[in-house]
Amino acid sequence: MPDNALPDIKIPPALLPGDGRFGSGPSKVRQAAFSSLMAAARGPLGTSHRQKPVKSLVGRLRSGLGTLFNLPEGYEVVLGNGGATAFWDIATFCLIEKQSQHLSFGEFSSKFAAAAQAAPWLSDPDILASPPGTHPQPIARKDVDFYALTHNETSTGVMMEIHRPDGAGTGALVAVDATSAAAGLAVDPSQFDVYYFAPQKGFGSDGGLWVALMSPAAVARVAHIKESGRFVPAFLDLSIALDNSRLDQTYNTPAVTTLLLAVNQLEWILENGGLSFSTGRCDRSAENLYGWAESTGYASPFVEKPDERSHVVGTIDFSPSVDAATVAKILRANGVVDTEPYRKLGRNQLRIAMFPAIEPSDIEALTACIDHVVSALA
Ligand SMILES: *Cc1c(COP(=O)(O)O)cnc(C)c1O
Repeated sequence: MPDNALPDIKIPPALLPGDGRFGSGPSKVRQAAFSSLMAAARGPLGTSHRQKPVKSLVGRLRSGLGTLFNLPEGYEVVLGNGGATAFWDIATFCLIEKQSQHLSFGEFSSKFAAAAQAAPWLSDPDILASPPGTHPQPIARKDVDFYALTHNETSTGVMMEIHRPDGAGTGALVAVDATSAAAGLAVDPSQFDVYYFAPQKGFGSDGGLWVALMSPAAVARVAHIKESGRFVPAFLDLSIALDNSRLDQTYNTPAVTTLLLAVNQLEWILENGGLSFSTGRCDRSAENLYGWAESTGYASPFVEKPDERSHVVGTIDFSPSVDAATVAKILRANGVVDTEPYRKLGRNQLRIAMFPAIEPSDIEALTACIDHVVSALA
C-alpha cells in the first residue's frame, strides 16, 4: 500500500508509550544517557583518546563489565572498532585454529558461518542449521576447536541458553555472539570463552564498537595462533587489541560518544542491582508482550517453544486478516517506530525490542496501541 493511501488513524495520546522506540538496533538510548553527553562536552568529548579522561572512560567500561558479568579471575575485557561484524573476521583470523562449528538459525549466525567458510586458511566449518523460529543444538566433534553460538538471534527472536557442548574437548573454545543478548539475558561465564557484542542494543549506546569478554583459554589461543606465523591484518589482530585494552585504549580512535553512552547504561544497570535488574526488566517486558499475543485472537508468538521465545527481541505473527506492515506504518506515523519485522524473514509479523532501556510498561502501552490500530482498521 503506498503511504498516501495509509489510513489516517490517530492513536489517543493516553495510549502512547512514554518512548516510542522499539527497534532492535540501533535501539532506544535513555534520556539520562543522552544528557550525560552534555556534561561530557566539557569533559572527555573532543579530547585525546591517549589521555586520562578517555582512558578512564574505557577503564570504567572494562571494570564495570567485569563486575556486571561476574567474570572469573583471569578473564579479560577487550574492545576495538568495527562492531560485532568485524569481530567475526577477527575470530576467523585470531581465534579459530582450524575448524569451527556454527549454529546457524538466522541472519546473524549465518553471516559468521559464511565468514568462516570464506577464510581459505581454515577448514570448511561444520554448520548446523535449523529453520527460522528454532535453534539447533551444538554437537561435540573431535576436529572442532571453536564452537560459535548465538545467545539471541535478533533476526528471528529466538534465544538459547549458553552451555558448553556436552563432550567438547577441553581445548575447544566456546564463543558467543551476544550482540542483542548482553545485559538482557542471564549467562554463566564459566560456560563461554568469548562473549562478544556491540553496544547499540542492550547497552543502549551507538554502533561501531565491539567488546569481548575473554577467558584465559581464549587469550592463550590468540597468542598461540600469533606465534604460528599466520598473517593477521593489524586492524583485526586480537593480540594488538588485547595489548591496547590492557592500557584502557583502543588500537585506533574510538567514538567517544559511543563509549560515554555505553558507560552510562552500564553504570545505571550496576547502580540498580546489576544483571538481575536488567534481565528482570526484559523478563517483565516479555511477559507483557507474549502474554498479550497469546490472549489476542489475531496475534501469536512466532517462536513455538516458550523457553526459546526471546526476552530481548519479540517476534509476533499476525493472522492473514491483519496486515502487519500496515500496522507498523500507522504506528510509525504516530511516533512508535521500528516495529517492522526483519526484512528477509518475509513474514506477516512485527518485531519488538525489549532491551533493558525499554520500560516494561511501554511494552504494555505498545500492545494497547496495536489493539487500537487493528480495531480501527477493521
Ligand atoms: C546487530 C547484530 C550483529 C551486528 O552488529 P554490528 O555492530 O552491526 O556489526 C551481530 N550479531 C547479532 C546477534 C546482532 O544482533
